[in-house]
Parts: sequence; C-alpha cells; structure tokens
Amino acid sequence: MRDFGGIVERSPVRVVRPRSAGEVARAVREAAAQGLDVVPRGLGHSTYGQSLTAGVSIDLRELTGVEVGPRHAVAAAGTRWRDVLAATLPHGLAPPVLTDYLDVTVGGTLSAGGVGGTSHVHGVQAENVLALDVVVDGEPVVCSPAVRPGLFDAVRAGLGRHGVITRATLPLVPAPERVLCCTIPCRDAEDVLRVQREVPADDVSAQVKPSEDGDGWIYEVKAVRHGDGAEPPPGTTETEKLPFFDFCDRMRPDVEELIGLGEWARPHPWATVFLPAARAAEVIEATLAELTTATLGLSGVILIKALRVGHVPMLDVPDDPVLFSVLRTASPGCAPVADMLAANRVLLDRARAVGGTRYAVDSVPS
Ligand SMILES: Cc1cc2nc3c(=O)[nH]c(=O)nc-3n(C[C@H](O)[C@H](O)[C@H](O)COP(=O)(O)OP(=O)(O)OC[C@H]3O[C@@H](n4cnc5c(N)ncnc54)[C@H](O)[C@@H]3O)c2cc1C
Repeated sequence: MRDFGGIVERSPVRVVRPRSAGEVARAVREAAAQGLDVVPRGLGHSTYGQSLTAGVSIDLRELTGVEVGPRHAVAAAGTRWRDVLAATLPHGLAPPVLTDYLDVTVGGTLSAGGVGGTSHVHGVQAENVLALDVVVDGEPVVCSPAVRPGLFDAVRAGLGRHGVITRATLPLVPAPERVLCCTIPCRDAEDVLRVQREVPADDVSAQVKPSEDGDGWIYEVKAVRHGDGAEPPPGTTETEKLPFFDFCDRMRPDVEELIGLGEWARPHPWATVFLPAARAAEVIEATLAELTTATLGLSGVILIKALRVGHVPMLDVPDDPVLFSVLRTASPGCAPVADMLAANRVLLDRARAVGGTRYAVDSVPS
C-alpha cells in the first residue's frame, strides 16, 4: 500500500473499512488482542507513510456523512471537506478554515493540523473543532475543551497516534456568495510577508513560480475578499470574481490536468516547514537560490503563508509562524526521489537553525 507521496510502501496484515464508531472500536480491540499496530487512514494524502502500517489499516473512507445544525456541523471522520462544504453552503454557512484542496478527510486534516487560506484569521482546522468522538483503547469516547481536555489536545494534530477520530463537531461561520480574488505581484519573500501582513483579506496565500527566462522567481500574493462589494487592495494587478464554492474548489482544474499528464501519480517528496516570521525570508531565499526545475519537478509548487496558531499543543510551530512549502514532483528527467528527499532535509535543517519546525505530514527523512 502507498500514499500520495509514493515513496514509502507498507503491506498491512489487514485493512478494515468501518462504517460506524462501533466497528472502529471492534477493529482496534481485535488488533490489540493480536498485538498489532493500528493506523487510521483517510485519503492517504500525507506523503511519507504517515497513514501506512504493517499492522491493521483502518480505512475511514466509508465512515461518512454530515449533519448541519444552526451554527455547527457534525461530520463523520471519513467525510471529505468537499462534502462538508456542499452540505453547509445551502444554509449559508461554511467551516471557518478549509484546506486548499477539498478532497482530503475531516479526520485526516484534524490529525495533521489543517492549514488554509483563512488561517491568518482563524488558525488551523484543528483549533476549529467543538468536540470529537474518538476511539481510544478500543472504547468510543467523546472529548472537547471541557470534557477530557487532555485527550482532545492529544488527538488534534496527533497523527492518529492517540486515538481514532470517528466524528467531529465543527463550528460554522456565514459563507459569502461570491469572492473577489486579487493578484498582487511582489519583489521577493520579504515583500510577500509584508503584503500578507498588511493587506486586508479574508483569505490570503502566496506562490513563487519560476520566471519565464528560468533565471529567477516570480512572487505573487493572492488576496481574497468576501462579498459582492469588495474592493481590490492596493497593489492589485488582476482581479477575478468567483462563486465561493468555485473559489474553494480552485485546485480541481489543475488536479485534473496533472492526472491527465501522469504527474499526479508520480512520487511527491513534499516539504513544508513552519518558520518564525522574523527569520522566514532568509530561509526562503536561501532555499530558492538552490532550487532548480530539476529538484522541484515539472509540476512542483512553492507556497508561502503567514498564519496564526492558537492552542493546538501537538502542532509544533514557532511563534508568529510562516508556512513555507516546497511541493516537489519526481517528474521524468528531473532529480531522483533520493535527491529531492536530501534537499528536504537541507531545508528542514535550515529551518531548525532559525527556530523552525516541520509539518508532520510531509516527507523529510529523519
Ligand atoms: C493535493 C494536496 C493538497 C493538500 N492541501 C493541504 C492544505 O491546504 N492544508 C493542509 O494543512 N494540508 C494539505 N495537504 C496535506 C494534508 O492535509 C494531509 O496530507 C492530510 O493528512 C490529508 O488528509 P487525508 O484524509 O489524506 O489523511 P491521511 O493522509 O490519510 O492521514 C493523515 C494522518 O492522519 C491520521 N489519520 C487519518 N484519519 C484519521 C482519523 N480519523 N483519526 C485519527 N487519525 C487519522 C493518519 O494516520 C495520518 O497520520 C494536502 C495534501 C495534498 C496531497
């Protein structure tokens, strides 16, 4: 069995596909009785074997469903964020934070952390949870900030090591009907961080792309404002109005193209680090100075995102964190996976030297 990274392979003793918390509990008890390791799996979009095991794989893709209340939704752990959003939007509501890609599971991203374009305002998905149903030691229990807070803190961003999430109660906020997406070109990483700090935006992100002559980098902030009457912020050179769902699902056309090109199925040695804002630009620029198409891959992506993280003890981030992702694809004719993993290691060492940390769902050899 593989994951999206396509680097690590494990053969589980068995795969269980539960449809209820009771079936999860039974699978965990049976595995414990046989002395087998249990690893929950959502859509396996982590990239270095985090959702794989040689023991019992609990595949949660059939544990799905969403109920929408007045200001919250209750979602089964295997539900994709796409389906959560589709259920809440008819009520004019949405989760405060959505990942850039909607085809990942509620249980998977709450166990990772879950960074999104609104994380500079609302923090990560793992701090936007009211309560969790979890199977611990083969028993279904409920936890929240008030009930079993220690378990609640261990499970959020806990990579499935402290229990299997079966259901999450999620807060909802009013959803806009339309958004205005604004492109703001920037000079360099320092400028990206300044713009992300200063720009009034409901959703903000940045990408770094190779320049056309291949000699340097183009830095672009995407600032998104909610509502029909939104005005573009200063520095905007391009705007686009989109229905909110289309904006949230903006990765889909690119993903379809990458599937068609075969790039989606290739190994993905992805690296994401969290850098302290004051030292972020120097790490980003040093990394970009060494990065080439060969070590990024033909469809590689580079992201910069300043965020705010509240109380999520299992998510190891510095104060005032900036996410920096180098999402490599081992395309034909590019560097081999081993070289890309080695470059991820260099990035992590550079990040740690300034007080940075790694996103635990990425692929960095320890
Ligand atoms: C195309 C793409 C886009 C992405 N975009 C984002 C993004 O915008 N923001 C972001 O933060 N991340 C992003 N990621 C990374 C992604 O968040 C993680 O890979 C996440 O873990 C994906 O969810 P999944 O359902 O695939 O989880 P999996 O990869 O299956 O699992 C992730 C981890 O959580 C554990 N786990 C899974 N389900 C449960 C459960 N029910 N209970 C307890 N533990 C569980 C697994 O054992 C594993 O350790 C992206 C990944 C890809 C491939």
